[in-house]
Amino acid sequence: MSNTQVAVVTGSNKGIGLAIVRALCKQFPGDVYLTSRDPGRGQAAVEQLQQEGLKPLFHQLDIDDLQSIRALRDFLKEKYGGLNVLVNNAGIAFKVHDTTPFATQAEVTLKTNFFGTRNVCTELLPLIKPYGRVVNVSSMVSSSALGSCSQQLQQHFRSDTITEQQLVQLMTKFVEDTKKGVHQQEGWPNTAYGVSKIGVTVLSRIQARLLSQHRPGEHILLNACCPGWVRTDMAGPKATKSPDEGAETPVYLALLPPSADSPHGQFVSNKTVRAW
Ligand code: NAP
Repeated sequence: MSNTQVAVVTGSNKGIGLAIVRALCKQFPGDVYLTSRDPGRGQAAVEQLQQEGLKPLFHQLDIDDLQSIRALRDFLKEKYGGLNVLVNNAGIAFKVHDTTPFATQAEVTLKTNFFGTRNVCTELLPLIKPYGRVVNVSSMVSSSALGSCSQQLQQHFRSDTITEQQLVQLMTKFVEDTKKGVHQQEGWPNTAYGVSKIGVTVLSRIQARLLSQHRPGEHILLNACCPGWVRTDMAGPKATKSPDEGAETPVYLALLPPSADSPHGQFVSNKTVRAW
């Protein structure tokens, strides 16, 4: 088993994830895994970084596929005995003008952004080593969507005692409510992406709390963040930040020094903790 430190970035064959891998290859003192659901796209991205003189490693990972997540988990356990840095970056968004029925958009978006990210956390968080760093890429849209929820939902999502199970029930209810056409009546905002990212931010708050409770003294820091508005296939060419600029806050959180005891359980944008 190797003593080398190891970092993993989900959904990193392009966009912000690729830029996070690029920055980690330059700054992280260990192995950096570029992961992709499609090995061909992943290898092409590895070659792109190799041409820049960097040396990322590759592992397949589809966050929608539990077997794929568990294969990565087993690989990391066997080769490194754990994991030092996990960046949950993989995500999807329907385009604004997409005509796919809203209920389908809700189901598909929640499946990857919330349930897939949660499955990665369930399988990989137990592997995180002392002084490990976990970064869940959420979005400012999670904050604006929270503001458009009913008072009751806002109370649940801001609660310091909400459990992961309760969060899963709420995310499941959102998808069911969209199928019944009652999501707005039930206090949900009209954005599947926004609700999925509420899920990512609240999940991060819960997981940070659990780490503090169950693994005190291990100095693990886990946060959610927004990369900003970034020129990628998701956000389009009019966005204000380059992918490398979008990677700055996630990379800052991934590389918080061993002496840091904060931020933890926070929502961070532009390297600044934001109120939730
Ligand atoms: P992007 O260019 O569309 O890249 C998304 C990445 O996620 C791709 O590598 C994609 O792989 C991967 N992915 C999607 N579903 C996956 C799955 N099931 N398993 C593994 N990988 C999967 O988007 P981006 O702008 O870089 O977004 C990265 C993250 O930042 C997302 O979580 C997004 O919500 C968040 N974000 C972006 C912005 C922005 O302005 N761009 C703002 C706020 C937050 P494929 O190539 O195989 O599709």
